[in-house]
Amino acid sequence: MVKICCIGAGYVGGPTMAVIALKCPKIEVAVVDISVSRIAAWNGDQLPIYEPGLEDVVTQCRGRNLFFSTDIEKHVAEADIVFVSVNTPTKTQGLGAGKAADLTYWESAARMIANVSNSNKIVVEKSTVPVKTAEAIEKILTHNSREIKYQILSNPEFLAEGTAIQDLFNPDRVLIGGRETPEGQKAIQALKDVYAHWVPEDRIITTNLWSAELSKLAANAFLAQRISSVNAMSALCEATGADVTQVSHAIGKDTRIGPRFLNSSVGFGGSCFQKDILNLVYICECNGLTEVANYWKQVIKVNDYQKNRFVNRIVSSMFNTVSGKKIAILGFAFKKDTGDTRETPAIDVCKGLLGDKAKLSIYDPQVTEDQIQRDLSMKKFDWDHPIHLQPMSPPASKQVNVVWDAYQAAKDAHGVCILTEWDEFKTLDYQKIFDNMRKPAYIFDGRNILDVEKLREIGFIVYSIGKPLDP
Ligand code: NAD
Repeated sequence: MVKICCIGAGYVGGPTMAVIALKCPKIEVAVVDISVSRIAAWNGDQLPIYEPGLEDVVTQCRGRNLFFSTDIEKHVAEADIVFVSVNTPTKTQGLGAGKAADLTYWESAARMIANVSNSNKIVVEKSTVPVKTAEAIEKILTHNSREIKYQILSNPEFLAEGTAIQDLFNPDRVLIGGRETPEGQKAIQALKDVYAHWVPEDRIITTNLWSAELSKLAANAFLAQRISSVNAMSALCEATGADVTQVSHAIGKDTRIGPRFLNSSVGFGGSCFQKDILNLVYICECNGLTEVANYWKQVIKVNDYQKNRFVNRIVSSMFNTVSGKKIAILGFAFKKDTGDTRETPAIDVCKGLLGDKAKLSIYDPQVTEDQIQRDLSMKKFDWDHPIHLQPMSPPASKQVNVVWDAYQAAKDAHGVCILTEWDEFKTLDYQKIFDNMRKPAYIFDGRNILDVEKLREIGFIVYSIGKPLDP
């Protein structure tokens, strides 16, 4: 029986391994983590992450051929294939601070693999890493255990949170990069054999190591760039009377452009887009490619601009101040169908409003009060000026109330902001919300999910990104 171990039981490691276990009943899969509470949650009734369909997959194979454990060394030692899916955040200090990937967790995982291994292994980069990381990993592994043979593969993950299980069941492609030596090709084949249990052969792409590593950064940069492009267009739409939804529809009909990922919004978030672009920027700078670095930096600058623009629009609409005014925030997660708040635009929008002394009443169906209070009390990490930004600012809790219902959030509010595109926000009783709000009652739709005309008929003053302003 082939044994797989995955180091890192997070948003990627957990779902990915659960799907491998489901699709490959003859492979034993162990997911290990240093976090005792995370592993306890994976073994309990309340999984540590919310992802549609995940619970069903986990309960089908947990205890059969899927195991979650903190006994990292045992499972790594026994495995034939070791995936490493640890976090690779942006460095906050030292060389490359604010841009380069922090590979501390990766390095410690690699050293541990070298220490405990007593058989040859395939080590798979599942985390998103800078191009050439495999070279560093090889060095750590071979210099620490010379008698064991390792093959390093790059197998970046392309799942999107909120649709992770669907994406894993039916991936657009699986990418495997490896050495062009006979041993490298053998390792690629071994990993292909795992995915071949359910992924059609023509969707499994193999490349050299550096192409696979760079492709993941490139994919996220292209996706984020598309969002910033449409958001940049939304500002121009507002200035000219064009409607960004109509523009997106028109350009998306061009088969060279395509219709997906053209929704304008308050900005992108999530743990990956910004960090991976910064990583790309750093790699460009290290290679002397300043103009290329500047091009990608602009994608993040436009994203920051879009969040600021949204806050400014709220404040300027409400007589240039939100001081003491109650604003209902509907949605805090960085997108729908996830409880993940990492880099969510809601943090910047809420902080902008708190800075003008607004009172916030926040509701999100999957985000806890602790998460929200923690996110709002952390000082923002400034990637352009990364030094000295770690201390906490005073907790925002006095101005922030977290509630468990959209109607409660909006009661007596001066304005409502939609910051996550949860389906339930599309079907709220907006007449009831209007009746219970202060007047004039404002709605700021940061996701363009509401029917502007209907809201205006009810009596709301509406701002929807990239749409003509209230007559
Ligand atoms: P995460 O923070 O949710 O999970 C990482 C886990 O690794 C944590 O539980 C942490 O405790 C554990 N860990 C860290 N060091 C460890 C060690 N030495 N030994 C054992 N466990 C250790 O992160 P994530 O969102 O799953 O992302 C993991 C990687 O995948 C990142 O590189 C990310 O960029 C990439 N990625 C993420 C997504 C996504 O949507 N979240 C998608 C594609 C790729």
